[in-house]
Amino acid sequence: MKVNRLVQTFILSASVSVLLACSGEEQANVEAPVSVDSAAAAKIGQIDDQRIVDADSEPGNWLAYGRTYEEQRFSPLTQITKENVKDLGLAWFKDMGTNRALESTPIVVDGTMFLTSTWSRVYALDALTGEEKWSYDPKVPREWGRRACCDVVNRGVAVYKGQVFVGSLDGRLIALDADSGEMIWEVDTIIDRDRFYTITGAPRVANDKVFIGNGGAEFGVRGYVTAYDVNNGEEVWRFFTVPGDPKQPPENKAMEIAAETWKGTNYWEYGGGGTVWNSIVYDPDFNTVYLGVGNGSPWTREMRSPGGGDNLFLSSIVALDADTGEYKWHYQTTPGDNWDYTAVQDIALADMTIDGVDRKVLLQAPKNGFFYVIDRSDGKLLKANQFAAVTWATHVDLETGRPVENELNSYADKPQWILPGPLGAHNWQAMSIDAEAGIAYLPVQENALIYAMSDEYYETGLYKRHPGRMNLGLEFGRIAQLFVDNIAEQPPVRGVLKAFNFITGEEKWAVEFPHFWNGGVLATEGGLVFQGNVLGMFAAYDQETGETLWDFNTYVSMLAPPITYQIDGVQYVSILTGTGGGDLFSGAPIDPVPNPASLTYSNTGRLLVFKLGGAETLPTPTKRDMTIPEQQLAQVSDEKLAEGEVLYHDFCAPCHGLVARSGGVIADLRMMGAGSHENFDKIVLEGLLAGNGMASFADSLTSADTALIHNYVKARAHEDREVAMGNPDAGRLTWLK
Ligand code: CA
Repeated sequence: MKVNRLVQTFILSASVSVLLACSGEEQANVEAPVSVDSAAAAKIGQIDDQRIVDADSEPGNWLAYGRTYEEQRFSPLTQITKENVKDLGLAWFKDMGTNRALESTPIVVDGTMFLTSTWSRVYALDALTGEEKWSYDPKVPREWGRRACCDVVNRGVAVYKGQVFVGSLDGRLIALDADSGEMIWEVDTIIDRDRFYTITGAPRVANDKVFIGNGGAEFGVRGYVTAYDVNNGEEVWRFFTVPGDPKQPPENKAMEIAAETWKGTNYWEYGGGGTVWNSIVYDPDFNTVYLGVGNGSPWTREMRSPGGGDNLFLSSIVALDADTGEYKWHYQTTPGDNWDYTAVQDIALADMTIDGVDRKVLLQAPKNGFFYVIDRSDGKLLKANQFAAVTWATHVDLETGRPVENELNSYADKPQWILPGPLGAHNWQAMSIDAEAGIAYLPVQENALIYAMSDEYYETGLYKRHPGRMNLGLEFGRIAQLFVDNIAEQPPVRGVLKAFNFITGEEKWAVEFPHFWNGGVLATEGGLVFQGNVLGMFAAYDQETGETLWDFNTYVSMLAPPITYQIDGVQYVSILTGTGGGDLFSGAPIDPVPNPASLTYSNTGRLLVFKLGGAETLPTPTKRDMTIPEQQLAQVSDEKLAEGEVLYHDFCAPCHGLVARSGGVIADLRMMGAGSHENFDKIVLEGLLAGNGMASFADSLTSADTALIHNYVKARAHEDREVAMGNPDAGRLTWLK
């Protein structure tokens, strides 16, 4: 089928160019020796529902976010095998002009690759050579960067009937002409621009509709998903995921059901959360879309919904009629979410025999550490095996479908390390499903957070809600102190690439990494599993054993999922480099954990494309200068430093890193030069660097606050400088040495 299309394209473009050269356009149309249908097919980006349904008949293309509507990310291509993968080499690469995280899944169709970069920029490339056909910049106002929890990332486009759809960070849905990159229409998807809504996820398309959700739960928004007509951007339906203002009538029956599971009225002010920022999967078997719904806002349930309740549809998978948006069923993974356990992670669909019964199932490994197998016909839970270290619950009861919480792990009375942490046992980083074997190749994360929110802290007003920052409902400002006080009990931190049998719960093999923040995965019929890791290695593993069969040093940490495609009989594997996203907070690792490649060198964003025999090489990377400059310290009391520490962690740490140690993506404030010190207030309060996304915090901080923060940062820099110079007892944070 692919070959036919290529031949057709070639013949058509040859005839048209000849005709255009010899005569006027109108005559050319009359004389054209090809049918109108073929003419349409010759334009690029002509993907329709049937083509995605039949995607396995053209395995050389990667037609949709998860390759097919099933989103299994398991490619049928077989040219690259266990035997020859050792000959895999770089075919070409493209510098993406960014050093922030790249998370995009490229779409490859009929020789063109469509992908996104930071700030929601879109590129169309020749998939054979990397040559740029066009690019599109939605010109996201850079101040909007401050409204994103997890940097200015984007996970990709949808391509459909000659259009390319992208959601911009500032909440627009934009349709571009696939041939020219010119905008056809755009709509504002955000219902309240005073709230911190963002879009980072890839739109999905089906039935002439494009589906898009949003992010922002950490900042206090109400989640929803909207379906738009692909032809003109008109709204077809909208589904809210959590109830709205209790004084208003509920929007629909689903919101009536949901409202009964919330207590108090605060949730309305807080927004409630439930953002659908990643997974929206279309199921042609039932004409259904499944939404992966996010965490509550704020995280702490007692604050969000005092008196309890499941808080529907937080942390749920919700099934809707694709044409009307009408509710069909839901399954809630984490009733009364208390830990940021989103269920937004990639959803895959499969037809499988389970316990002797043929079923159409939905598969998801959300943050909470259990791998769910759900019957798509009615939402019934079939399996829920634990795939990572979990302490918040003992197990999932298959009779009731509910998790059994571990009461010992409540953090209302005292701070607790709880697994998984808020970045999840699995996050948006893609998994790959071998449905025949019942195996998921899964990037697993083990990284506990010390959760704390005592009644005292809350009731005495120590906890303050600020409109212009993340409001997690935790003692987040005190997080550094909590780490210091409880470091001895911190559970081990690691990342694992796992071959996990989601039917039996058995682990077939595991490859361990020293960092938890893990990369997306691709498996192929060639018996291989591809993944890029934090140490900068892009590797191919044996699907049977987990043995490393090949690797390539990119010198950049990776998160993005690899994809594979084939053109003119040659199979390619591509991956984007550049880490960041949700894990800016962790910052630089603590000895003996090695630095990520992106911290040792730089976080250079590149698209790398490999083929057998590829011989291209990357420029030699240079190591960063990690010398912390000498600090001009002010005379500051320990109390004032502690106040600065709280403000720093409430406002700055989510991007600049725990205790002012950046992981190498966002500026390390310990490295600030004289100019930055001099202009500290201009930067923080007047938006001097708003062009980088560092918008003014004048809405939430005063110059007295910034003085506290500035002194804290300088004190931290001084401590770390002293430690680096061989004086390990320089300060109370020397446990970080
Ligand atoms: Ca979240």
